[in-house]
Amino acid sequence: MKAAIITVGDEILIGQITDTNSGYIAKALDKIGIGVHEMLSVSDDRLHILNTLAHLQNRVDVVIITGGLGPTKDDITKKTLCEYFDDHLVRDLQVEAHVIALIERAMKRTASQINKDQALVPSKSTVLHNAVGTAPGMWLHKGNTVFISLPGVPYEMKYLMENEVIPRLKVQFERPYIIHKTILTYGQGESHIAERIEGWENNLPAFIKLAYLPSPGRVRLRMTARGTEEALLREAINTQTEKLKVLIGDIIVGYDEDETIEVAVGKALTLKGLTIAAAESCTGGRIAQLVTSVPGASAYFRGGIVTYATKSKTGVLGVPEEVIEKHSVVSAAVAEEMATRAKALFGADFAVATTGNAGPAKGDSDAEVGRVFIGFATPGGVYSEVYDLGQPREKVIERAASKALEMIYK
Ligand code: ATP
Ligand code: MG
Repeated sequence: MKAAIITVGDEILIGQITDTNSGYIAKALDKIGIGVHEMLSVSDDRLHILNTLAHLQNRVDVVIITGGLGPTKDDITKKTLCEYFDDHLVRDLQVEAHVIALIERAMKRTASQINKDQALVPSKSTVLHNAVGTAPGMWLHKGNTVFISLPGVPYEMKYLMENEVIPRLKVQFERPYIIHKTILTYGQGESHIAERIEGWENNLPAFIKLAYLPSPGRVRLRMTARGTEEALLREAINTQTEKLKVLIGDIIVGYDEDETIEVAVGKALTLKGLTIAAAESCTGGRIAQLVTSVPGASAYFRGGIVTYATKSKTGVLGVPEEVIEKHSVVSAAVAEEMATRAKALFGADFAVATTGNAGPAKGDSDAEVGRVFIGFATPGGVYSEVYDLGQPREKVIERAASKALEMIYK
């Protein structure tokens, strides 16, 4: 998508005024992905204007012209446009009504014929309504190029760019393909991820945008590619996904829009034909709830038990009292005991267990608010991890459950 800007006016060429319109227009076009390839300033001269229009036609997609639209004799852009487009001027009644009303309101006088003639526009043009002035903008095309003529007065030009030109260009040159790719990561915050992929992100092609979509315990990275060639977009997205895998493969758990850690866990376990169970304290059944929210979970989830009170950990699950006395109920040893016993109880290949303090105050143990131990019993032995998940209670529960699922996933 290429553009050019023409500013018309002798004042610019004799150095009386400095062209600020071009810079403004270039910025506005750049924002919507249209690159300016040429900026030209020409005098109020019919032949110069005609030559410049001809020079740009078919070389760029859009030409924006400012200046020379006034009602005075020296303003010849409109007449010259007619000549270039092989057209004639017609009176636009809506513009005329607007000019009359504006003159009456602003100048407290009736509009003169010269004022009313601002309503003359090339018959082939689409009129761009100028609410802040009397000269309307005009949109024409010839060959493969759109020509847009705007008044020279900066605030009028800006008004038209913002309200008429940019919205139309967006529609006209909207690239037809938009492809999204969502990458689900677990276990690291967005700022940490941003640091890890900074170099990659900085080198993303301009047609791919990246969004960070964080929620407790997980961050989705969404790439959006826009362009005209669908195959190229897919290829680019795949290439970038591969690069991301190299950088943060350790925390990626899925590549689908609606992938979640529980879905990823389900897929992985089904694939391997393995089963799991859970013994939960501070997560209160959240792990079991998440796992069973996936249809077909009965294929791999043997069951869960919530042993919330210390008494239940010993009485129901069979965690030895000595272990609790020696290590405290919120401890690695208890998490591991719980996991080992849940694995045996349910006859599963793996089991997870949680014991912690979700807050807001210190509970049964002296454990800090937010401290959670997650035990993981595997066919090869048992181990545990400890997390300090902060506050509030809901977040601790949610993050502990998702950490437990991550341990299963890994
Ligand atoms: P109007 O119909 O409102 O008079 P116009 O299209 O006739 O607008 P010009 O006569 O070319 O516009 O310019 C009007 C004034 O706008 C100039 O005297 C100048 O102050 C300002 N102007 C025009 N072109 C530019 C530009 N490229 N950069 C900055 N200011 C400009
Ligand atoms: Mg003028």
